[in-house]
Amino acid sequence: MKIHNELLELRQKEKRITSEILGKLQEIEDTRRYLDMGYNSLFDYLVRGLGYSEATAYQRQACVRLAKDIPEIKQKIDQGSLTLSAVTTAFKHLRKKPVAEKRKVLKSMENKSSREVKAMFLEPTPTLKIKKTEYADKVHLRLELSHEQNEKLERLKALKSHKYNVESLLMDLIEKELGSYENVQRKSSKSTESKGIGAPKLKNPRQISKRLRNEVLMAAKYKCQYPGCESDHFLQLDHIFPVRLGGDQRRSNLQVLCSSHNRHKG
Ligand SMILES: [Zn+2]
Repeated sequence: MKIHNELLELRQKEKRITSEILGKLQEIEDTRRYLDMGYNSLFDYLVRGLGYSEATAYQRQACVRLAKDIPEIKQKIDQGSLTLSAVTTAFKHLRKKPVAEKRKVLKSMENKSSREVKAMFLEPTPTLKIKKTEYADKVHLRLELSHEQNEKLERLKALKSHKYNVESLLMDLIEKELGSYENVQRKSSKSTESKGIGAPKLKNPRQISKRLRNEVLMAAKYKCQYPGCESDHFLQLDHIFPVRLGGDQRRSNLQVLCSSHNRHKG
């Protein structure tokens, strides 16, 4: 049928254009040229600069990031043996895996439907079950473990010390986890303050008082002030004229930048 053939031809073109776009995006990502244009990330550029929906932008970004390690995936998308959504799923699950493993898994994904690809990454259903009952003064947790899980728990208990019972172990783990999150938060709020490591604590020109910081942030409407950027994430105070060149912490020498543009400024 004529219309079918026309559509097949268009579909072919569509695939070619997609891989052409991915190639160019790769270039933008590698050179970080989006920063000069006022975007704080490739994702930001895809959404605000090119008008992609957030979901589509996420897919494009996933492809570009994965193609950095495994360039042949662009060709596979071009040929149609890998779909963008399959690559996105793979990216989510493989981002921290070694390149060899990424390559192996991607190979096994070829010519599979999105549903089949998603099934590849399904976690086995956990056998750990918790039944929670809340009372006015306490909470009851009934924990159901598989034998294998119980063995792991016993091993951890043995490694810790004989004094440990399940209760203290659990409380210990909770405290430790909580502590690590709170540390991260403390660290990240510190990093917005100043880069003055090793400088004397008092009269540090990099030190900016809370009040001044709030003033500057408020004046910037809590957004990055790099021309064109609108990011309200990971905002940092920047000395327009750098401290190492004699810039000070006067209000007029301060501006708000997102972490990408602060790094970009250098
Ligand atoms: Zn920015």
